[in-house]
Amino acid sequence: MEIKDLVRQNILNLKPYTSARDIYDGDKGILLDANENSCGSTFTSIENLHLNRYPDPHQKDLRQLIENVLSIPHENLFFGVGSDEIIDLLIRVFCNPGKDKVLIPEPTYGMYKVACDINDIETSEVLLDDNFQIDYKVIRASYTKNTKIIFLCSPNNPTGNLLIKQDVLQLCKEFNSIIIIDEAYIDFAIGGSFINEIKNYPNLIILRTFSKAWGLAGIRLGYCAANEEIINLLFKVKAPYNINSLTRYALEISLRNSELKEKYIKSIIKERERLKNLLESLPDIANVFSSEANFILVKFNDSTGCNTKAKAVLTKLAERGIIVRDRSTQPKLENCLRISIGNEEENDLLWDTIKKII
Ligand SMILES: *Cc1c(COP(=O)(O)O)cnc(C)c1O
Repeated sequence: MEIKDLVRQNILNLKPYTSARDIYDGDKGILLDANENSCGSTFTSIENLHLNRYPDPHQKDLRQLIENVLSIPHENLFFGVGSDEIIDLLIRVFCNPGKDKVLIPEPTYGMYKVACDINDIETSEVLLDDNFQIDYKVIRASYTKNTKIIFLCSPNNPTGNLLIKQDVLQLCKEFNSIIIIDEAYIDFAIGGSFINEIKNYPNLIILRTFSKAWGLAGIRLGYCAANEEIINLLFKVKAPYNINSLTRYALEISLRNSELKEKYIKSIIKERERLKNLLESLPDIANVFSSEANFILVKFNDSTGCNTKAKAVLTKLAERGIIVRDRSTQPKLENCLRISIGNEEENDLLWDTIKKII
């Protein structure tokens, strides 16, 4: 398996943007190379953030911060403006518009297809099996030599399950393509991460985000872990200063609060199981799927087969100011709503309201 055989020719030939600070030691000296404001910044705070200066395009201290936390070497890490930016960059690195294909086992997160559509990349949406696991037969049947990327999500959004390790590793071995595993919800799962497999599989990419367990959706920060060759390609195509200094600063503060993150995770898991048990006791609910994430997928009983029940519950909840996500039009998810786990008070209110509606 040669990564460079998968890359778009124009990306291989691309000469990336360089700044004067790549040539000279960028952090020190009198910086008169980038037309910044040398007097200072209008944003004043106790912290000396140097917001008048461009951030480090090489993400050096960000990568070091995460290397310290995860023991993944910094050479194997890349940061994006949310994982959504990384999804887009990976498609642009590997897929030729109008020619290459991306395989997406569904039901799953909608952004993979949106990002492909924006880039004019054809997608094959195949189905996961009845347990929302990889179905080898359908993947083999849809795979072509132009399939550059397979998107997987574990724990999967919106079904909440982890993917079976052997299935994923078999895909990495068998297919001469990039295998992306989105681990946005991995902090809520017990084990199950593929991140340590990046040293064994050069085509494996793990996506992570600070938007969920870390409670930092507002700062827009995600990262991926992969072999160094892929990381270097991402650095080649990203906007030079994609991660802004306020975001970097927020991360630094948050990493010092990792006990708080652990506390949130514990409470969300506890609430998730409490809500699951409560909802399962209702006669109109056919199934509350086991979840390793911070949401649950709920399937309603419905004899009409037209998603009427799910839609009715969705509307009535909304009338009472409770917004949940309709997933009933996704394949295999007839009559399903996805409910994020709120805090204890919010969950009590949800429970009271659903009980009354049903
Ligand atoms: C929420 C979510 C993300 C996070 O995206 P960001 O751009 O990092 O906020 C990524 N993948 C999945 C499956 C998600 O549900």
